[in-house]
Order: sequence, then structure tokens, then C-alpha cells
Amino acid sequence: MSRKILLIDDDRMQFRLTQAHFSNFRYETFELEWAETYEEGLARVLGGTYAACLLDYQLGDRNGLELIRAAMAGGARTPIVFLTAESSERVDIEAMNAGALDYLVKGEISSRTLERSLRYALKLGDTLEALRKLATHDQLTSLLNRREFDRILAEERERSRRFGHPFGLVLLDIDHFKSVNDTHGHPIGDVVLQEVASRLVHSLRDVDRAARFGGEEFALIIMQADRKIAREAAERACELVRRAPFILDSGLELRITISAGVASMPADALSRDELVAAADKALYAAKAQGRNRVVGFEEL
Ligand code: GH3
Ligand code: MG
Ligand code: MG
Repeated sequence: MSRKILLIDDDRMQFRLTQAHFSNFRYETFELEWAETYEEGLARVLGGTYAACLLDYQLGDRNGLELIRAAMAGGARTPIVFLTAESSERVDIEAMNAGALDYLVKGEISSRTLERSLRYALKLGDTLEALRKLATHDQLTSLLNRREFDRILAEERERSRRFGHPFGLVLLDIDHFKSVNDTHGHPIGDVVLQEVASRLVHSLRDVDRAARFGGEEFALIIMQADRKIAREAAERACELVRRAPFILDSGLELRITISAGVASMPADALSRDELVAAADKALYAAKAQGRNRVVGFEEL
């Protein structure tokens, strides 16, 4: 299936011209789609199904720079190549700062330069995506890393305050994990961490988030959830770890359990640090009560 490129331009001639260029490409096959207005273009970029986007500077009474900023603010990752009618270093720099990956002057575009620009934008887009993944995810488990978790927790706290809906935090810690390492070796310990991570993710709804909080500790953010819903999520997560043995490549079967502490915003805490401290206290209590269980902060 050929990759789709979106052209956002209010001029039908530019669409025809770009189509003609596309049919002259030597190495790449792309399917060109066209959005005629700012609104339609932005919606389609945010929809996220395009390999790259060619974006005109002049879009009726709106401009392309605004669209880039709105797309970035909306979390769009589509590589954008900016098009202008005339060469201007100021616009070039502004476009780059807004997040465009390349800048082409319409009058100077040939099939060769357009093909080359798209090829480079796609490659750079892939590289940026890989870097983003590295910066935000834990390498062993592919869960969110601690830094990204902190960022999302802060964001969720703001959202929760503004819209008045609660959310939950679950901290989990594998029981007696040190003995897995001691008995079977660190590499087996790593496999267990990966399997626990995968089971945690499967226990969650799509909107919830899972992070590796530290060595063998994990954190779940349960969106739009009061104490009861957050607690149910924690129970589901622990149950999924407990239910079936972990079967390793060697045929070895391990029974793993995990303990969890649950706290909810705003019922148990008002700041991010307070929320983490509350969930951590509850987790500590779950360990003290014998492990393999969930404790809510309100029970303490
Ligand atoms: P508890 O039930 O009280 O939680 O006991 P525990 O043994 O799980 O807890 P403890 O904190 O004593 O040990 C945690 C162990 O987790 C020690 C550490 O070596 C191991 N660990 C931390 N990160 C990793 C990792 O990335 N890979 C492996 N294999 N082990 C790790
Ligand atoms: Mg621990
Ligand atoms: Mg542990």
C-alpha cells in the first residue's frame, strides 16, 4: 500500500501541479490527497493517517504557521513540509521553529526537489519518532518511563482540577522479586519484568497509562476514576499477574504476585507529590499485611 501525503492548499492549480510532480517521482510512490481549507487540513493532520504533509503558507485568511502550531499543540506527529509563494528567510525560520521539517518555494519546485524533500522529511520524521520513544519509554518493558509518567501525572492533575473529575494512581511492587533474581539469575528477572509489564497493560482500559516507576515497581494512572474505580483497576492488574504462571522459554514456570497501593485525586491528595506519597503508603501497608493484595489509602 502506498503512503499517503496530504496537500493543504487553497489553490486547485497547486493540487494539479503537485499531482503531476508525484507522477514523475523516480523512487517513491505516494498517494496524494488534498485539503482545501485550514479547518479541513488541521482535522486531517490531527487524524494522523498521513506519512507527511505539504502545507501552504497562505490559506485564505488563515496562515500555515498557525496550522503547524495548532497541529503540534494537538499532538500531531506528521512530518510537515512548508510551501510558500516567495522565498523569505523570515518565514523559513518561523516555519522551522513552529515544527516544519523543510521549506520549499513554490516557483522553484521540481519533481526532483519535491521527491527529495519528502524523502528527507519522512526519514527525519521516523528518526524523531524513534528519539521520542527512547526519551519517553523504558527500554526493557516499553512502558512509559519515570520522566514521562511525571509529566502525564502533572498534566492529569491540571485536567482534574479544571474539569473537576477525579483520577487514580496505583503503585505496584513485585513480591519477593529479589529471590527471582537470586534463584534464576538477572536475565530471567528481566523476562519476568517484561511479562508483568505486559499483563499490567492488558489489564487496563485504553485511556489509562502504565509506567515503570523504578526497578521492579510500576505505576498506573487510572483516568476519570474515583477511589472505587481505581481500586477495581488495581485488583484487575494484580489478578492478571497472579492468575496464570509465567512460562519461560526453558519451560520453567514461575508463580509471581504483586502488591498495590491506591490513592485518588482529590479524595486522598491535592498535589502530585501528595498523591504519590499516599499511594506509596498504601503499597507499604499492602506489603506489611502479607503482600499479594491491594490496599487503598482510605483504609489506613
Ligand atoms: P518485596 O516483596 O518486599 O517487594 O521484596 P523484593 O525482593 O521484591 O524487594 P527488594 O526491594 O528487596 O528487591 C528488589 C529487587 O529488584 C532488587 C533488584 O536487584 C531487582 N531489580 C531492580 N531492577 C531490576 C531490573 O531491571 N532487572 C532485574 N532482573 N532485577 C531488577
Ligand atoms: Mg521494590
Ligand atoms: Mg518488590
